[in-house]
Amino acid sequence: MCRSLSQHRIDDTSHWRWQLTHAIARLEDLPPQYAPLLNSASPAACDLFPFAITPYYLSLIDPQDPRDPIARQCLPTAEELRNTHTAVFDPIDEERHTVLPGLIQRYPDRALLLLTGRCATYCRHCTRRAMGAGRIQPLTEARFQDALRYLRQHPEIRDVILSGGDPLLLDDEVIVEKVRSIRAIPSVDIIRIATRLPVTLPMRITPSLARQLAAHGPIYINTHFNHPRELTPEAIAACAAFVDAGIPVNNQSVLLKGVNDDPHTLAELLRGLLRARVRPYYLFMCDPVAGTAHFRVPLSRAMDLMDALRGKLSGLAIPTLVVDLPGGLGKIPVERNRVLRITQREVVYRAPDNREISWPV
Ligand SMILES: *Cc1c(COP(=O)(O)O)cnc(C)c1O
Repeated sequence: MCRSLSQHRIDDTSHWRWQLTHAIARLEDLPPQYAPLLNSASPAACDLFPFAITPYYLSLIDPQDPRDPIARQCLPTAEELRNTHTAVFDPIDEERHTVLPGLIQRYPDRALLLLTGRCATYCRHCTRRAMGAGRIQPLTEARFQDALRYLRQHPEIRDVILSGGDPLLLDDEVIVEKVRSIRAIPSVDIIRIATRLPVTLPMRITPSLARQLAAHGPIYINTHFNHPRELTPEAIAACAAFVDAGIPVNNQSVLLKGVNDDPHTLAELLRGLLRARVRPYYLFMCDPVAGTAHFRVPLSRAMDLMDALRGKLSGLAIPTLVVDLPGGLGKIPVERNRVLRITQREVVYRAPDNREISWPV
């Protein structure tokens, strides 16, 4: 399944380059068996926000199901055109926290570097969707060198996150060289790579790429599975390539209406991730970015879902529910308060079965 470039033939559908060159980027290019999807697809939404689907990710869709959770994540619909009062283009104020072109810093010890605007499949719920349509430029070598200089001059930055777009769409030599350059900065402890390719283009993740990246470790991968049906044998193999090479994989899901906003789907996803040795890290509330109102789940419902999972699933399977505050103020965990009151003698807790339990302070 995972072949190296030298074995790549132009008609090899299991090669990531074939998948990219054959990605569907116009609705009229959808193969005939996907015609039922066109009923809900919107060409206008394609014009407004970036659109592409790899043949691999497309193959996970059941075209007969008008509510298919995979299609909902990648197929542009007229719902995206609804103008709501919450529609914004940069929900977490990344622009204001851009310290150099492509380099965003919202926390003293961490920095986010956008290497490319390109993705293999564009998520309909993407936080950077409004910026992605041409505004995130590929980071030039000169700008990358500027970013390296900034990191050297700010030794308080210990965690560098490579993001985009999808940084693993860069060629092996290019991404490995960037990681090597960042690793050469003594104050950098860890390098994180944010990529959805294990989900949308798993054949990109070869054991060879994983080994080359791991050589400049510690590296962490943050990926983005949202639905248990995305955990295919290919996707599981992609995660295994990282983990076997010594690269821990964490998952950041987005809570999406009609995709994963029920306890059964979430439980199946989270258990499946653990089986794939992927640690559920965050469950994000969907940012109020333009054209995503139809995905948003109320916070009270989100907390109900977390309550339904806690205690019924391995603690390792439970992600932290987070909201990314506007103004770039940061991610905050949200959890239902379990401490009802604290007096001088006792703390009163709400037990999982809803009883009030008194316990010493
Ligand atoms: C999300 C984010 C991080 C990382 O946050 P963690 O809570 O450490 O995962 C760092 N920088 C920026 C700009 C971010 O948006």
